[in-house]
Amino acid sequence: MYDIAVVGAGASGIVAAITAKRAYSKLSVLLIDALPKIGKKILATGNGRCNITNLKADGKSYNTKAVSSVIQTVSPEKVIEFFSSIGLECIADNESRIYPMSNTAASVLDCLRFEIERLGIEVLNDTKVTSVNKRNDCFVINDNIECRKVIVTTGGKAAPSQGSDGSGYALLKAFGHSVTHLYPGLVQLTVKENLKFLKGVKVKASVCLKSTSGKVLDKSVGEVLFADYGLSGIAVMDISRSVKDKNCICVLDILPDLSKESVIDFILKAKERNPSLLFEDALCGILPRKVGYLIIKNSGFNQDIRMNALKHNDIVRFVENMKNCSFTVKGTKGFENAQITIGGVDFSEFNQKTLESNKVNGLYCAGEILDVDAVCGGFNLQWAWSSGIVAGTYSALELIR
Ligand SMILES: Cc1cc2nc3c(=O)[nH]c(=O)nc-3n(C[C@H](O)[C@H](O)[C@H](O)COP(=O)(O)OP(=O)(O)OC[C@H]3O[C@@H](n4cnc5c(N)ncnc54)[C@H](O)[C@@H]3O)c2cc1C
Repeated sequence: MYDIAVVGAGASGIVAAITAKRAYSKLSVLLIDALPKIGKKILATGNGRCNITNLKADGKSYNTKAVSSVIQTVSPEKVIEFFSSIGLECIADNESRIYPMSNTAASVLDCLRFEIERLGIEVLNDTKVTSVNKRNDCFVINDNIECRKVIVTTGGKAAPSQGSDGSGYALLKAFGHSVTHLYPGLVQLTVKENLKFLKGVKVKASVCLKSTSGKVLDKSVGEVLFADYGLSGIAVMDISRSVKDKNCICVLDILPDLSKESVIDFILKAKERNPSLLFEDALCGILPRKVGYLIIKNSGFNQDIRMNALKHNDIVRFVENMKNCSFTVKGTKGFENAQITIGGVDFSEFNQKTLESNKVNGLYCAGEILDVDAVCGGFNLQWAWSSGIVAGTYSALELIR
């Protein structure tokens, strides 16, 4: 009989186990994962650098304000302190994103593993949990592991190759919890237009997702990366949560830092300076060549049009197209390529302070399995660490009070 079993050894589960054991060293804590090693996804985060948290994360950073208590209890500063306490120092970039000082995600996982070993937390790998039942006052996992408290931290459905295959939802449904509709989030968009020639080109753009009737569904500003299948980059990933099953249009302002008038002025000056220059060549001063070509094409010009052939109306039409460069969204690259899950176990069915289930005493939840999500930038891991620490703390406190 274990005091606490944590099901799922990702970001939230690992810190839940560490916090519970630190609360009282005599508690027996078991950490279970389906994969041969713990924390696989952590290694892939932040392009291998692990964007641990964001100093700007607060209750308003998420899809629901219900997270406020948990984020206030374990703020980004507390997360940084936690990592310092296990021997990992962090550093902020100029957008308040926090990374390990070593600049590598492997260090984050290493320090967590060393702490698990130091504390004597038992780890059970290669064990997929398919059932959790409550018998009298204890839980029985897979019909053979008994524990007094259980924390379910199995993640969502995003990136299933890293263990999060969505199997955790059934464990909570079996206790009467509800799961909202699930969509891939922070994911690339596939579009109808052929963008193969633009593959690999990056721009800073403002991105607006609209319904086919023109209603604005979501907005962001930042990097857009063109791919052979469609659009990627942080700004696109950030609005992908609003695609869901809808038909929509992704509209880019390719030069968000320049007003229409400034672009017109730039083109007029270029025309005056060198009237025989190809329009495409003149645009190299403000745009990647291939993007300039795309907008020349979208505006209905021949690729070899020269500056002296441009009339004022043509220039205005070009600038309109550049500021409203539209792509028809077919869908997303799916859960396989998504960083997070939109939707999850209904958060209102859990105590917002302790993360204990309102339906079943002794059952706790943390991390992405809950219906909590945010944009790129360290906010999702912040939720995983905060909620893991809260669930670990309160499950232990219940046992030692
Ligand atoms: C490529 C990528 C990059 C990312 N980069 C960042 C970033 O830089 N910053 C950021 O804030 N967020 C980032 N995220 C999102 C962030 O990684 C997740 O939100 C976070 O890891 C969720 O933590 P979790 O503990 O809830 O779930 P997970 O990390 O998904 O862990 C769940 C664990 O449970 C195990 N498991 C699942 N089902 C079972 C079962 N039935 N039985 C036993 N074990 C099970 C899995 O094997 C897994 O180890 C990224 C995500 C991806 C995919």
